[in-house]
Order: sequence, then C-alpha cells, then structure tokens
Amino acid sequence: MGEGLQKGKGRELTHVHTSPISACMSLKSIITLPDEKILRQKSAALKTVDAGARKLFDDMLDTMYHAPGIGLAAIQVGVPMRQVVMDIAKEGEDKKPLFLANPEIIWSSTQLNDYEEGCLSIPEFYEMVERPAEVNVRYLDRNGDAQEIHAKGIIATVLQHEIDHLNGILFIDHISRLKRQRVIKKFKKADKLGKL
Ligand SMILES: [Zn+2]
Repeated sequence: MGEGLQKGKGRELTHVHTSPISACMSLKSIITLPDEKILRQKSAALKTVDAGARKLFDDMLDTMYHAPGIGLAAIQVGVPMRQVVMDIAKEGEDKKPLFLANPEIIWSSTQLNDYEEGCLSIPEFYEMVERPAEVNVRYLDRNGDAQEIHAKGIIATVLQHEIDHLNGILFIDHISRLKRQRVIKKFKKADKLGKL
C-alpha cells in the first residue's frame, strides 16, 4: 500500500515538473507572404484520416492557438493536404476546436456578408471581404466520420477563408487589385530588408 502511495506521489510530481502544454505541444512555423509559391499550391484530398493526419491536426491547433488565430489550413504550415483547424471561441470562453478534413462547400446563400478578415500568413493586414453569409460544408472530422454543418456569421466566413487556402486562394484575392498589389509589395520589401 505504501508503495502504491509512493507511486501515486511520483506521478503527481511528474505532472508538476512537466506541464501538459510543453509536453504535447508541437509548434509549426507559419508560412507568410511573400512566400506565395507554397501558399498558392492546391492541396490534395486525404484518403483517410489516419494517425499522421490526426497528429498534423493537433500540431496545427497548437500552432493556431499560439499565434493566436481562429483558423489555419495545413498549407500554411507547408503541408499541401486538405486539412483545416478552427476555433472561434472568444478569450475566456471554453475552447471549441473544429477539425476538418476534405471540407467542401455544398451550398452557399445568395445573401452576402461583409467581415474584416485577417490571415496568419499575411500578418497585421486586415480588410473587408464580402462572401456568402451562410454556407453548408461537408467534411470528415478528426475520427474520419462524415459531418455536415450549416454555418452563418463569422464561422461561415472562416470556413470559406480556410477552404480558399486549400485551393491556393488568399483573402487578398477578394479585395481590389490595387490594395492586393500594395500589400504583396509591402511584404516583398520587408523580406528583402530582412535578408540584408
Ligand atoms: Zn488565412
């Protein structure tokens, strides 16, 4: 019995020394402009949601929370697979992560909505984007089970933004040509200066 207690104590101590966050967190670096070569790639569909895909989902979620952001597509960490993680819970609210493999928009409303969008691959740039206000999306969840959701509001916007990433489309493709060219130029210039 004494031994059992000791063991229990030992486990507790281990927990004190190894915080659960540092133990399982695996952060990926996020690809940003001007690296369009990777961001413009079209991602491939998953055949199954296997252990490798689940590990990528978890790493993507850690990376997204750490950034912090509310949505991240695999291509943004350099993996051209159709995987997306999202969580639109506000600070202080319980986390509600969504894992989507092979997400597909199967219906979108004719009614449009404006949202100010940003992107972890285009840091510190925000612009209004008009998109369908509501969408139905079909996808495979983290267990590989088929799901369908009806989304409106910010979740509909984030879903469309992330599914765009899987097709090599960035939110700046939905703004005026002049504004887009200006932001790409800004990132090219910053990159050049950084390399000097
Ligand atoms: Zn983005």
